Amino acid sequence: MPLYEYRCPDGHTAEELRKYVDRDEPVTCGECGAPMVRILSAHHQQPDGLYSHCPNIGTPDNYERKHDLWKRQQMERAEKREHRADRACELRRMAG
Ligand SMILES: [Zn+2]
Repeated sequence: MPLYEYRCPDGHTAEELRKYVDRDEPVTCGECGAPMVRILSAHHQQPDGLYSHCPNIGTPDNYERKHDLWKRQQMERAEKREHRADRACELRRMAG
């Protein structure tokens, strides 16, 4: 779960671990009780923050799914290449 940082009008800050979809749910300042707004924090540089910063990835689940799909496609492509290479060898042998 990504870590988000919030700030109240008085400048108090708080960090909350939240689901991506809950990131803009209201947060109340623990110091003065004022409503807080989400700010960008340095934590977004860390792996978890990646998901909230890349719209095409979206969530960790999505990222894993896309990554698995990509791996499968790479493997299928490699298999096809091998197949073609085998056939080319065979044809050359037959021709020679
Ligand atoms: Zn405050």
